[in-house]
Amino acid sequence: MTAAIPFANTYARLPEHFFASVDPTPVAAPRLIRVNRDLAAELGIDAAWLESPEGVAVLAGNRVPEGAEPLAMAYAGHQFGNRVPQLGDGRAILLGEVVGRDGLRRDIQLKGSGPTPFSRRGDGRAALGPVLREYIVSEAMTALGIPSTRALAAVLTGDSVMRETVLPGGVLTRVATSHIRVGTFQYFAMRGDVDGVRALADHVIGRHDPDLAEAPNPYAALLTRVVERQADLVARWLLVGFIHGVMNTDNCAVSGETIDFGPCAFLDAYDPSAVFSAIDEYGRYAYGNQPGILHWNLTRFAEALLPLLAHEAEAGIAVAQDGLAVFGPRFEAAYYGGLRAKLGLTTDQDADGELGRALLEAMQAGGADFTLTFRRLGQAALGPEGDAAVRALFGDPGLYDAWATRWRARLATEPLDPAARRAAMDRVNPAFIPRNHRVEAVIQAAIARDDFAPFHELVTVLARPYDDQPAFAAYAEPPQPHERVLQTFCGT
Ligand code: AMP
Ligand code: MG
Repeated sequence: MTAAIPFANTYARLPEHFFASVDPTPVAAPRLIRVNRDLAAELGIDAAWLESPEGVAVLAGNRVPEGAEPLAMAYAGHQFGNRVPQLGDGRAILLGEVVGRDGLRRDIQLKGSGPTPFSRRGDGRAALGPVLREYIVSEAMTALGIPSTRALAAVLTGDSVMRETVLPGGVLTRVATSHIRVGTFQYFAMRGDVDGVRALADHVIGRHDPDLAEAPNPYAALLTRVVERQADLVARWLLVGFIHGVMNTDNCAVSGETIDFGPCAFLDAYDPSAVFSAIDEYGRYAYGNQPGILHWNLTRFAEALLPLLAHEAEAGIAVAQDGLAVFGPRFEAAYYGGLRAKLGLTTDQDADGELGRALLEAMQAGGADFTLTFRRLGQAALGPEGDAAVRALFGDPGLYDAWATRWRARLATEPLDPAARRAAMDRVNPAFIPRNHRVEAVIQAAIARDDFAPFHELVTVLARPYDDQPAFAAYAEPPQPHERVLQTFCGT
């Protein structure tokens, strides 16, 4: 057993106004829920040690491990479109960074580990429910092949937290290639601290995009790179029915990883106006609004970078516009490319986008389940015998029939044989996603009965989203009407 986390910290070397040094606040009675053994191995951390009393004390914030330099990162942001010059890690503490077996540097952060100078009126704590949700969804996203922060561990604190009711407290150990957000850039930009913006940009280039250091204008190249990564990311979200729920600029990571799983949810029936978050009164962050909101967030990123883009303000604006212009084509290519693959198409024809949209419209009109429709299309791709299972998902099966006729005509122009097509479709159309009602049931079992078996089972099923797992077929099913989750809440 190796009692060490091989820290190699760089953020702590940045100017001191980038963060506040602060230790986690100890909790009453740490109790391990789960260690992510595979991730621990990737990071070069001994999972057996993490599971030992000493390791659990670290995961709960009761013990600062050797080499850690605990800090809360400063950041700002636009929340629901409103400028907030200071947010920062109010309930999260970065322990430090490790370079994993793959050579990639990653942050190790405790979330729910006590107050920091950025806590404002918050208690710095996390309730068990949001800890479990973030563990489940961030690992599910990873298994789906979508860039995401990871969950290294979840623990109970033994303390209660006061929310609308008294709830058990938890701490999530989150891992990310970095926790630098659009809002981190805004923090310095909003203060007119151009040196701060530059130091942060240089850190990001060194850490995420070292190839850009040689570019003629590295900061312009960074803008383009972040635009590309985020466009690709949000396209991937749409293709699995993910709704982030709170796409504020402080929840938009420059690494292109999905971050901050607060009131997130997944579509059951397809509906572009779907909103789950209780605080999203006007549907700003509805499923179908996400690309437009992302463009808005990236525009805020470009604004923050402006002084670095050129010496003259006007020239800087032109560079920013060029960078942002990459967004539309990049997003469309990622989204429609993904949609074609979901339909089993390997060649690219002009009418494919329309064909995909027509299916989505039929799903919306027919109240069809998004995930199951695509998954079952794989069977239908083998031949019309497979249609019955898809039709059954539509309130009016005729909606599917009309579309399927067009689809079959298009498939006839494809080179792949049906079996190969089906296999390819099964690799992009998941059978298993973290269905909202399943996540809620897991949280309820943990809170009400101290029963974590449903949590472990759900995590296990979601680790193989593209495999039919007959023993767990029920996890692929949409909710019964009485099981439907109508609203989700922030982790605060
Ligand atoms: P989030 O909803 O996670 O995007 O958080 C928005 C801001 O509120 C961030 O600055 C958080 O650190 C802060 N925050 C959220 N919950 C708490 C809490 N319980 N205690 C202190 N700060 C919090
Ligand atoms: Mg956040």
